[in-house]
Amino acid sequence: MTEARRQTAFAGLDRPQAWPATRGRPRPERLDAALDALDGVGVTLKRRLAKLGLETVRDVLEHAPRRYEAAADEVTIAELHGEDEVVVAGEVLNVSKRPLRGRRTLVTARITDGTATISAAWFNQPWIAEQLKPGARVRLRGKNGRYGFDVKSYDLGEARATADFAPVYPAAEEIPAKTVRRVVEAALPHVTDYFDPLPAAVREQESLPLKRDALAVLHKPSSEDEAECGRQRLAFDELLFLQVAIARRAAERQRTLAPSLGEPGELIARYRKALPFALTPYQEQAIREIDEDLVRTMPMQRLLQGDVGSGKTVVALYALLRAVESGRQGALMAPTVTLAEQHFITIADICFDLGVTCTLLTSASKKAVLTADVVVGTHALIQEGIELHDLAVAVVDEQHRFGVAQREALAEGRGPHVLHMTATPIPRTLALTVYGDLALSTIEKPPASRKPVVTTWITEERVPEAYTRLTRLLREGRQAYVVCPLIEASETTVARAAEEEAERLRRAELRDFRVGCLHGRLRAGERRKLMAAFKAEELDVLVATTVIEVGVDVANATVMIVQEADRFGLAQVHQLRGRVGRGAEQSFCVLVSRAKDELTENARERLEALVRTSDGFELAEVDLELRRHGQVLGVRQSGMTDLRFADFKRDRPLLERARAIAPRASALPESPG
Ligand code: ADP
Ligand code: MG
Repeated sequence: MTEARRQTAFAGLDRPQAWPATRGRPRPERLDAALDALDGVGVTLKRRLAKLGLETVRDVLEHAPRRYEAAADEVTIAELHGEDEVVVAGEVLNVSKRPLRGRRTLVTARITDGTATISAAWFNQPWIAEQLKPGARVRLRGKNGRYGFDVKSYDLGEARATADFAPVYPAAEEIPAKTVRRVVEAALPHVTDYFDPLPAAVREQESLPLKRDALAVLHKPSSEDEAECGRQRLAFDELLFLQVAIARRAAERQRTLAPSLGEPGELIARYRKALPFALTPYQEQAIREIDEDLVRTMPMQRLLQGDVGSGKTVVALYALLRAVESGRQGALMAPTVTLAEQHFITIADICFDLGVTCTLLTSASKKAVLTADVVVGTHALIQEGIELHDLAVAVVDEQHRFGVAQREALAEGRGPHVLHMTATPIPRTLALTVYGDLALSTIEKPPASRKPVVTTWITEERVPEAYTRLTRLLREGRQAYVVCPLIEASETTVARAAEEEAERLRRAELRDFRVGCLHGRLRAGERRKLMAAFKAEELDVLVATTVIEVGVDVANATVMIVQEADRFGLAQVHQLRGRVGRGAEQSFCVLVSRAKDELTENARERLEALVRTSDGFELAEVDLELRRHGQVLGVRQSGMTDLRFADFKRDRPLLERARAIAPRASALPESPG
């Protein structure tokens, strides 16, 4: 039992006497200490941990295990057979390392324990080769696999963590899982430096352990149940603070006034007539809901969600025109310049036809006072002191990318009606939790004229077939996107990789076609020209990085090839795929991945789901299932919420409990830390 465990007591559970009470006062400032303050953490490890987002003692303590490994039986090598996960121990005879296809490596080591010899295999951990010296003692946990004994975890020397009930952390390639364990262990005594944010009365009523105990058992449980009990306490905090924040925002809103816009009038009638199609029932429903909000003086806070291509933009423009109609301004904000330009291209013509002035805000128009009826720009530009003379409706696209701070800055002092728009369907369970202060309008289905994109998944060796099919469609006059692999590098590196790929395709598979290359390093003007050329069919193929993810709208583009699709998140591929299938023509999406046996189970499931369905809501549920803790659909990255412990699916009852308590917990501090 660790020091930390002995110091703490499991309050509220039935064994409070088991451990002596905590000694000493909490010193929360110590939780903010950099990690090299811990024994055994030097500069190099500190830097690697920082890449995992772990910079302080607090970060490490709140680094939740992804799962736990149950104890495994130890067997002799001679007894080794079958599929079960077991532990073997022995001595290294020799080691070898070789590359596998697709930038992967395999390290194998002959191991003996006197009864027999096995070949143990490590994938993608090239550094292991240096650690496995002939004669070294090892303890391996794993099972028989294609390349011998497939090692899941291991101990070197005399350590014995591997066979026991142990946490498994989300680890990066550079840091072996057991190093993360060691760092957590070193940080663990600091759990006593937390002040418990939950009042004792609440803790007691909800039968929740102390925060410090919850953290201790999260990392060092003696059973799965104990770990779960600790996790629930931490999840409860998160959900409670979220509920309290939502309640505060709602209260804030009630103190703000927005102009009441009355009933729709003549401009709206002309808009409806100008549309070349009838609105779908879902669009009409969303519009009714928006109208109900706009007559009120409480600012609208509505989330308009609908899958890519479901027709949200039409509804958004409706809301903007409602502002214009009453002599005020509407603003449309996008997260990136490319997106802002796309929106501008989409709505400028129709605005012109209606006699509504529409301006694209660029960095050159900074500090100006803008008087156009409808202003389109990035969120950053609008925040940086642009004055809109009379903003009544703001549409915020892809709202999950905006942080709370930005969202609040927008509403500050102005009190416009705000319509948030997202093409990333948010599962209902999540919407309730994270966007609890937003009303929700959902466009459930796209216009009936659209055919679902036919998606196929192939492995790299079949890429030539995909290009054969692609070139046939190009000859028929269609256009296509080729999406470059997702690499985690600087934007410049990503851009260079895209340029190289475009150049390669121009020489090889696509030599008979006109190929453009779109990436984030291009200047706005160049990007606009490129998009216009693609739209005017002066280019056949657009090789692009993920900058095309949202907003690009070219109906004649009916084919998309996504390279190394296994590297992308489910939601991201779905977004990308939404760039095709925008016209009446049948569209195709080809997902290319590495060989199937080189993929993680998770990647296989993602790709299978994408082939199976093009329903964004269904995919969002799958995504939620696959991701488990917290990191749902980019919500985590946005800083909108940072849920490490709560699990939306599993924790519904906990959420209800937190919700019930929230009104009484309004005196809580700003954050659970
Ligand atoms: P989203 O913004 O949800 O991705 P858009 O509003 O861009 O979707 O619409 C996608 C495409 O469908 C556009 O080309 C748009 O003109 C068209 N569209 C929108 N609403 C309808 C409708 N009711 N009937 C037919 N086509 C529509
Ligand atoms: Mg759109």
